[in-house]
Amino acid sequence: MGARKIAEQFAKEGGWFIAFIMLPTWDYTNEVVYDVDKYDKLIELHSKDCREAKDAGIEVMCFAGFHPAEIDNLLERGISPKEVRNYTLAVAKVLGEKCSEGKIDGIGEVGRQHYKVQVHSALIAQEALEAFLALAEERDCPVQLHLEQVSGFTAESISRLANAIGIKKDNLLIHHSTIAVSAEAKELGMWSTVLGKKEVISAALERRGSDLLLLESDFIDDSRRAGKVIYPWEIARSLKSLLEEGGITSNDIEKISVDNVKKFFGI
Ligand SMILES: [Zn+2]
Repeated sequence: MGARKIAEQFAKEGGWFIAFIMLPTWDYTNEVVYDVDKYDKLIELHSKDCREAKDAGIEVMCFAGFHPAEIDNLLERGISPKEVRNYTLAVAKVLGEKCSEGKIDGIGEVGRQHYKVQVHSALIAQEALEAFLALAEERDCPVQLHLEQVSGFTAESISRLANAIGIKKDNLLIHHSTIAVSAEAKELGMWSTVLGKKEVISAALERRGSDLLLLESDFIDDSRRAGKVIYPWEIARSLKSLLEEGGITSNDIEKISVDNVKKFFGI
């Protein structure tokens, strides 16, 4: 659909803000990119898409990162672990520069795989994550994290890492959280997003309240997987429907879809 069309449709349904997150490289080029200059160009392309979406009259934030699945795909392509690691760190440097230059507003998705991988792939992802957080700390950039969702481990592991690196924990957001991990992230002073489906929103509010909580669609804008995970405007529909049923208060809506957004993204 493209960012601009998405933004227009979202605005029509009452949306006022979208954070666009860069997709993995093969979604743009049909193959995993292994070239820092090409990666740079994809970030520029994404940044241009974000700017065009602003024409729809909504607030837009633009994040670019390095999805942990890039690491698996590079290894699968036969690139050695050492080269993959060096490449990953080179991309991290570019992302840090883009964030400083204001070409992007934050770094994401970065993080760790949520599925089974080779042990060296997981270790490279962890090393990359540490590099991304250090860069983000230096440049005061918010970070959107893609992580395994292990209750009792994931949020705490990120919190320890944040303490060691010195990055402000309220600059970190764990995306597509389970409700358990979202509750733990909140206790540790970190943001999280849950999917904007009715049942997920009500369960999240009931279990962990509205502090440090945001909603997301995880929409991938791929015609071969249309509507995955949900369309952004389904979030607005979920909130309206919950409000009508008395499953949410207008104060909660105001908080999670306006106040919290302004706080995390600094609007
Ligand atoms: Zn993700």
